Amino acid sequence: MRSLHDNVRSEEALKRKCERMATGDIAVFLYSHELEDERYPDDCPLKTERVLRTREIVSSLGLLSDSRVEEVNFAPAGRSDLEAFHLPAYLDALEAAAAGHHRLEYLEMGIGSKDCPVFPDMYSYGQLACGGTLTAADLITSGDAHIVFNPSGGFHHAGPAMASGFCYLNDIVLGCLRFTEVGMKVLVLDLDAHHGEGVQEAFYDRNDVIYISLHESGRTLFPGTGFEREIGADSGRGYTVNMPLPVDTYDDAYLECFQQVVMPLIAAYAPDVIVMELGMDALSGDPLAHLALTNNAYATIVDNVVEFGTPLLATGGGGYHPDNTARSWAFLWGVMSGGVAIDHPPLALGGVFLESTEWHGGLQDRTQVPTVKQRRSVEPAVANTIERIRRDIFPCHSISS
Ligand SMILES: [Zn+2]
Repeated sequence: MRSLHDNVRSEEALKRKCERMATGDIAVFLYSHELEDERYPDDCPLKTERVLRTREIVSSLGLLSDSRVEEVNFAPAGRSDLEAFHLPAYLDALEAAAAGHHRLEYLEMGIGSKDCPVFPDMYSYGQLACGGTLTAADLITSGDAHIVFNPSGGFHHAGPAMASGFCYLNDIVLGCLRFTEVGMKVLVLDLDAHHGEGVQEAFYDRNDVIYISLHESGRTLFPGTGFEREIGADSGRGYTVNMPLPVDTYDDAYLECFQQVVMPLIAAYAPDVIVMELGMDALSGDPLAHLALTNNAYATIVDNVVEFGTPLLATGGGGYHPDNTARSWAFLWGVMSGGVAIDHPPLALGGVFLESTEWHGGLQDRTQVPTVKQRRSVEPAVANTIERIRRDIFPCHSISS
């Protein structure tokens, strides 16, 4: 397999980024100090401090100080914002449960399940995440920013009246709706290890939002959806694209999916905005998922997406190794904002060294060479998925396969 790494040369990338910055495109990092007071329960794998940690790293590396970069604060989403997708009765239940008035019947809405426990910040954290992603959408629709990163967003599992997989409120759907309200065509690229069934279902019969997901197969991972045969319905047929991946999928195989399927779809669909869910749970060593990426794969994809020149709204998502997640989000922010060329991560910008004692190279993971056994199990499965997608989806977009 040919790697996209081969196509990316740091000098060229830097030159293009410099040109982009010269045109006045602004990249915004979204952060709210209110996030620092919000917590999931201690025994929940989702650690909200990942976002604080990400900000500490990007700040210490000078990745918020460029003149083309801004850090922007945001407010929690209001009730009417949330009702653009979520049902009033569900929002009432969330508010009541968070205030300590939990009722057994709420379990039918996923509230109080193992993955969606009841705790005081369950509603307010979701409101903040949604507020961030809606602020990102507004910055893009108004033309005030070209690239916006909301690391506190990315809750792609939640349904209109269903909490699922640590997600109570679906900021991705709300952000997409904010774009479609003003007639923008949206391409969602979901790189979380889990399939984002909440986003898929929200737009399953629509063609103004194309949902593309690379994720660990539902055969081995929650939520058990996102197979190749799920391609959308009615006028949305061909506008849902699922690439389920086998256990141990490594960078080159993942990048082959991106190159063979996602790149042609971005070019053919020509979206007005790209929304990326950057869950970091596909990284090797994540305690919940079983893929084997390094953050170089994510960075290569982000770099290539940015090259399209389309406005980009990027969110966080999963990622249950907090240090790896924060370090990788910082790396990706550097790539998307133009502060880092992917072949030359900042090892010690301005004399500031990263604090991690586990890893001495900076933000970028070491390259991992897949084993023969890994290649034998992953390569045929990925090739088969690529072939199916090209056969079933590409004709809907007049792409020759
Ligand atoms: Zn996930």
